[in-house]
Amino acid sequence: FSNFEEANWVFCNTYDELEDEVMQGHINPMLQFAKRLASKGLKVTFLTTKPMQSPSTSISIQIIEFPEGEQANGTEEFAHLFKTLVSERLTNLIDRLNSSSSDPPKALVYDSFLPWALDVAKQCGLHGASFFTQSWSNSSIYYHLNQGTLKVPLEENAVVSLPSMPVLGINDLPSFVSDTGSYPSLLKMVVDRFSNFQEADWLFCNTFKELEHEVINCMASKWPIKTVGPTIPSMYLDKRIKDDNDYGLHLFKPDSELCIKWLDSKETDSVVYVSFGSLAGLTEEQMLELSLGLKRSNRYFLWVVREAEQSKIPSNFIEETSEKGLVVSWCPQLDVLAHRAVGCFMTHCGWNSTLEALSLGVPMIAMPQWTDQPTNAKFVADVWQGGIRVSKDEKGVVTKEEVEWCIREIMEGERSLEIRKNSEKWKNLAKEAVDEGGSSDKNIEEFVAKLLCN
Ligand code: UDP
Repeated sequence: FSNFEEANWVFCNTYDELEDEVMQGHINPMLQFAKRLASKGLKVTFLTTKPMQSPSTSISIQIIEFPEGEQANGTEEFAHLFKTLVSERLTNLIDRLNSSSSDPPKALVYDSFLPWALDVAKQCGLHGASFFTQSWSNSSIYYHLNQGTLKVPLEENAVVSLPSMPVLGINDLPSFVSDTGSYPSLLKMVVDRFSNFQEADWLFCNTFKELEHEVINCMASKWPIKTVGPTIPSMYLDKRIKDDNDYGLHLFKPDSELCIKWLDSKETDSVVYVSFGSLAGLTEEQMLELSLGLKRSNRYFLWVVREAEQSKIPSNFIEETSEKGLVVSWCPQLDVLAHRAVGCFMTHCGWNSTLEALSLGVPMIAMPQWTDQPTNAKFVADVWQGGIRVSKDEKGVVTKEEVEWCIREIMEGERSLEIRKNSEKWKNLAKEAVDEGGSSDKNIEEFVAKLLCN
């Protein structure tokens, strides 16, 4: 960067959609939540920076665009610019809705990563509700950092005990916490979610009470935490519902027909589904070990390798395994997880993927990469017991032998049956939580009733 301003062009080997992907795990749960509010009689205005179509006539989409020429250097400057611009536009939008609509807005639900939105809500006389897209267990770790009850940096082999949480080793903590030097501005962002949360009227979380009841009960006695998840379209949780098939935004085009046709041709519980979500990148060495492990397992596999990662697939691997495997750049994950042929999910444990697998009863092989994933993996393996977690070698690599062993263990090993039973249990509990009268449904009903009677 010493003289890059003088260059006429700065080219980068990436593409816009890839750099936008960080929103996938945020925008979809919030959009599903908006759909649920709309289905209960509220009018919803959904504010986003991403052009998109409304999934329902009760949801109006408002897009905030950055004016041409606005530039930011680095995450913090961008966050500041974003806050200034969006606060102003949000205030204008609320003013406009107040003056022109017969239903003036009553509440602002904002992504917890944007805590300053609460100031806008209060200034405009609205209720404010922060929406947490990660598990409450993860969020509570950042809460303790904010409160000073957990201090970083931690020692190399630290063990952390927090109220109503299992004892967490250093590798069970979010990567921003176990390695505070790695992404300091992201750590600041996740901790800052708690800078003013006491003033919010509601704290919504995309989880369900039964899944995280201890940590939720512990904090819900002090703060208005309300579980509203899993925010998965009802048709996936209940096969009888046919009319709600819009998941939200797909930032990549899924190869739906190919994936489902391929799965249709396979026996029940025979396929290993492998995906590391929209952001994580594996090293070349890890890709090699993973592909060799999949080959050694001799199982059918459906592997999502995003376009940006495909150059790391060992040469000839796709041809050599074409009888056993299908590699695609993106798939309709909910349809895949709901398919009878899928026997397990090898996942990076992003919160959406974890919640989707639990809610659809698919046993997991947890292979966390960064951010909240190590904590999710700890819960999957040790608390919810809906899967197993890979071990890494001394270089931090999951070897081909380990991949092969994990697949055998989860598909047919000693604990396979027990894990399958647990997965089925979580699936039923997830469905109950969002069904009429369930724990998440009641929380949403209460919120709606409060707004309608105000
Ligand atoms: N997803 C998908 N197709 C794929 C891979 C992922 O639709 O091939 C979806 C998946 O269902 C989930 C989201 O992308 O809703 C990924 O979110 P998650 O929190 O699991 O991980 P992230 O991408 O944020 O790391």
